[in-house]
Amino acid sequence: MPDKEDTVVNFPLPDQNLIQNFILESSAIRGRVIRLGSVLDKIVSAHDAPEAIAQLMAETVALSAVLSSMLKYEGIFILQVQGDGPVSMVVCDVNSEGHVRGCVTYNEEKYEAKLKEKNKKPLSLEDMFGTGYLAFTVDQGAHTERYQGIVALDGKNLEECVQHYFEQSEQVETVIRLAVDRVEDAWRAGGVMIQRMPLDEKDVQSEVVEQEEENWARASVLLKTCKDEELLDQKLHENTILLRLFHEEGVRVLDSTDLIAKCRCSEERLLGILSTMPKDDIAHIVEDGKIMMTCEFCKTTYAIIPSDELL
Ligand SMILES: [Zn+2]
Repeated sequence: MPDKEDTVVNFPLPDQNLIQNFILESSAIRGRVIRLGSVLDKIVSAHDAPEAIAQLMAETVALSAVLSSMLKYEGIFILQVQGDGPVSMVVCDVNSEGHVRGCVTYNEEKYEAKLKEKNKKPLSLEDMFGTGYLAFTVDQGAHTERYQGIVALDGKNLEECVQHYFEQSEQVETVIRLAVDRVEDAWRAGGVMIQRMPLDEKDVQSEVVEQEEENWARASVLLKTCKDEELLDQKLHENTILLRLFHEEGVRVLDSTDLIAKCRCSEERLLGILSTMPKDDIAHIVEDGKIMMTCEFCKTTYAIIPSDELL
């Protein structure tokens, strides 16, 4: 007889980390679903920040995955939120291979003081960042010029600020639905974005335009019906979410990208930074013949033995 405990099978919890692109066949609408599990948890947990700051970081990572659709070629999409409040900066980048990393800079004392001032009530975006902005950069190397967008931190959360950016700019019309939370003690995120594609010139007739206006309005309303629980429940397949939302619009999935928590730091890169520093400064940070350097993104610590040229 096997031990009773041996017969218990523990199925691992689903862990999805991906971007799934889709189109609605009945209209000129494209979109993407993102799911984040262990990748998000690894990136956020490495920074060991207070809960509310970790939440901001998790939102930034999730939004970056959504907005990285702006990458049309090989390159890097960078989302940066900056302010003069307790949290001075959150940065996340996603490259075209799906490698994601993130980093946060905050002042613990200022944060504690703000919590006290607010009498432990939840802190608003303004409480956290003060006056600030959200900026993104699409860096596609030699393919195209570096593209940058910027918007004031004027909204109840980062998602709303991004939404304002699309409303104010001449960009394609966009609606984003995002959920970010801890589920069973691990960070999880899910989101759906839809965008209205420009019509072909031959389609710019009043009936088509009117029809597309209606399609867009309906899809936007449908997207808003999507619940946080659905977006965060990884047992629910992303295609099921899409079917629930858009079954009447002829939703069709296209390509997908797996997301991986992977930093771009290396000893070589750090040596590159060191080589630009004055020799006097380097001499100050050498201890026992080594320079200890920690990557601000992934928190990996490197013990670098400086070459003679550096000293
Ligand atoms: Zn790193």
